[in-house]
Amino acid sequence: MEIAILPGDGIGPEICREAVKVIRTIAEKRNLKLDMWEGLVGGAALDIYGKPLPEETLEKALNSRAVLLGAVGGPKWDHVEYHLRPERALLALRERLGLYANLRPVVVFPELISASPLKEEVIKDTDILIIRELTGDVYFGTPRGIIKENGKRVGINTMRYDEEEIRRIARIAFESAMKRKKKVTSVDKSNVLECSVLWREVVSEVGKEFPEVELKHMYVDNCAMQLLWNPRQFDVIVTSNLFGDILSDEGAMITGSIGLLPSASLGVKHAMYEPIHGSAPDIAGQNSANPLATILSVAMMFRHSLAEPGIALAIEEAVRLILKEGYRTKEIWHDGEKLIGTSEMGDLVVGKLSEIL
Ligand code: NAD
Repeated sequence: MEIAILPGDGIGPEICREAVKVIRTIAEKRNLKLDMWEGLVGGAALDIYGKPLPEETLEKALNSRAVLLGAVGGPKWDHVEYHLRPERALLALRERLGLYANLRPVVVFPELISASPLKEEVIKDTDILIIRELTGDVYFGTPRGIIKENGKRVGINTMRYDEEEIRRIARIAFESAMKRKKKVTSVDKSNVLECSVLWREVVSEVGKEFPEVELKHMYVDNCAMQLLWNPRQFDVIVTSNLFGDILSDEGAMITGSIGLLPSASLGVKHAMYEPIHGSAPDIAGQNSANPLATILSVAMMFRHSLAEPGIALAIEEAVRLILKEGYRTKEIWHDGEKLIGTSEMGDLVVGKLSEIL
């Protein structure tokens, strides 16, 4: 099985190096044939090929079972033309790989509970999977643009979903819920938007195929409030592109530790896994970035693309145990805990994983 590793910019290469160590250990221990191929993306690719997503990289991504991406971007490329910006590579990859479902687990690790800006009693035991539709909505609907009307400038975007787009993301939500606590909360704004009325109808239709799953509908404004008020009430949240963009960042802040949150973007044939954080240019090259979000993205890869849920659980357990033993990278370190660097964190997870597997 081929896995494309696209480290990208800033801390991307450092955190991907640790994730690769984890994949190698698993391949050895479990005797799996996992071929890894590394490619340039983002600013690193722009510097050499003159574009952020070279053909060679895209080709390999298309021919791989899964893609692991570090992060792209940085001040060096902040002033290049819009279509050449490193971040454009991400959008192009999503589009070319047909990635329509973005999965972001929001799990509060008991050892890091104090990292959250919210109170312990509110966030304790939070374990949510936010599923965001990724290829529709106002981000892609037409007509769009800025036009002149009666001498005034008018900005236009179009919120648009067809029923098939809603059905396929709803299915991912119900299937995911079947492997969890069997609860789906579908988030929309159907009191105001026709697009949301259709969303609610289609999600309810799909829900009938999953009678064991409890389905609840919630308006997005209420959901934004409920996430902070009582996050434990949620199991799987499914929502459209725009609402998901906002709610998933809100969800990330419940945990308070950006260096620990993985994500998966799934399509029919392809999948891409990446930490939710960016390229952190302020700490790049210092061996201080937290590689755990990338390592946890590898866990998602084993769960969703490589049909190895047991290995996914083993990676997650190894991370949990290392945190329990008090090891921390700089951004989550407090007095009395053991301060370590990026590569040491990778080595510790690999060691623990070797014991578990
Ligand atoms: P960022 O996520 O890179 O950094 C925000 C803060 O979090 C920084 O202080 C950084 O040091 C810290 N941080 C992030 N990841 C960390 C980790 N693993 N360990 C320890 N600390 C970590 O966001 P930003 O500063 O707004 O953006 C920097 C660059 O990354 C920009 O060019 C932006 O466009 C790009 N970006 C890329 C992606 C992506 O590749 N998916 C996502 C967001 C931002």
